[in-house]
Amino acid sequence: MALRRRLEDRLRRVLHAFNFREVQTPTFEELELFEKKAGAGVRDEIYEFKDKSGRELCLRPELTLPVMRFYFGSQLKVEPKPLRLFYFGPCYRYDRPQAGRYREFWQVGVELVGDASPEAHAELLWLALQVFEASGLSKIVLRVGHLAILRSLIESMLGVLPTDQGPLMRLIDKKDLEGIKAHLAGRTDAKRVEEFLSFFELGDLEAAKKAFPGSPRTQEAYDQLARVMARLDGFGADATKLRFDPTIARGLEYYTGLVFELDCPDLGAEKQLLGGGEYDLSAVFDATPEPTVGFALGFDRTLVALEKTGKLPEVRDRVDVLVAALSEKGTPAAQRIANALRELDLRVELDLSGRGPKRALQRGSAVKAKCAVLLGEREIDRGVAALKNLDTGEQVEVPTSEVAARLQPWVVAN
Ligand code: AMP
Repeated sequence: MALRRRLEDRLRRVLHAFNFREVQTPTFEELELFEKKAGAGVRDEIYEFKDKSGRELCLRPELTLPVMRFYFGSQLKVEPKPLRLFYFGPCYRYDRPQAGRYREFWQVGVELVGDASPEAHAELLWLALQVFEASGLSKIVLRVGHLAILRSLIESMLGVLPTDQGPLMRLIDKKDLEGIKAHLAGRTDAKRVEEFLSFFELGDLEAAKKAFPGSPRTQEAYDQLARVMARLDGFGADATKLRFDPTIARGLEYYTGLVFELDCPDLGAEKQLLGGGEYDLSAVFDATPEPTVGFALGFDRTLVALEKTGKLPEVRDRVDVLVAALSEKGTPAAQRIANALRELDLRVELDLSGRGPKRALQRGSAVKAKCAVLLGEREIDRGVAALKNLDTGEQVEVPTSEVAARLQPWVVAN
């Protein structure tokens, strides 16, 4: 937990710096909402149950829908736009567990509500990069695509109309090349399929534009992407971490425009750490459309990536001070001193067991204390405390009223 909290702190700091506000919603939701969003088949993928009144509920498989339910049903809706919201919480999916894929896992995510301009997209992508920078994970690739480009590619190259693209989009989302070939066999000329699959290898926007200029709508999407990339450059984004990927499908129909995914290439099959894009969930809530851009990051998987790449944050679990009463007589002073040090926000282990100095210092080393305050009869009789720096071995005696001031530099040094 110390490790998880440390990563969480790092991520929170970035989210606050970008002025995102935290929202929290219940762990369970109405099943119907997820069915409206993702279709009836979603039941197979989530934990669903009836409560004692027969309501059909589920454990949330993700947090975008709950956050948007909160948004559309609360005063947030009338607040000035854009709204910057973030969440951090557990999600549940009825999946086959494997490395980096769990039935309960945590997501950190953001929703930028009311602005889907190229500038908004660029800020969100920059935030995604900054979040991983702060986490300590530098080996990442952020792939950016656009559904208008993918959908028109599918229509003009493979002859599959937008209304029939659902199953194919899901195969593309899984990068299941064999599945795509099987799905199209007999329907589309094999050469066209090969040509389509070559887009999976493209990483460059200009090359894609040349290979597939597409319709005016496609051109618009290319222009939007180019503008987003230019803005990202303005933030100082590292171009070596960015790729154009026209084959990002994101699986679900509510995504509308620009989409993106971020991977850690070292992770193998479960390498995707973050996914997002522009979406519109207003139809689920019978509300007026609200352009929104968001992303969700897999917190547990990020920890796996940090571990695999040797970049786990250092856990700061050291105790600042061990305060020990060496006998009954030292107890009141030890309690007073512990109170005073804890008031200063120091991490204090208080030992009132009255064991001798040697055992007290052993305890200090065992809990990795930076220093120790020892109060025996000899010290109490003279109104002093014995202080020992457990890192350097330095030992001094000071009046009990000066303990905090004398310890401060020892504690701060580590
Ligand atoms: P998604 O909501 O499916 O786009 O997921 C967003 C991110 O959450 C993914 O990129 C993963 O990093 C993470 N994630 C999704 N499913 C799981 C899972 N079953 N276990 C752990 N992490 C997951």
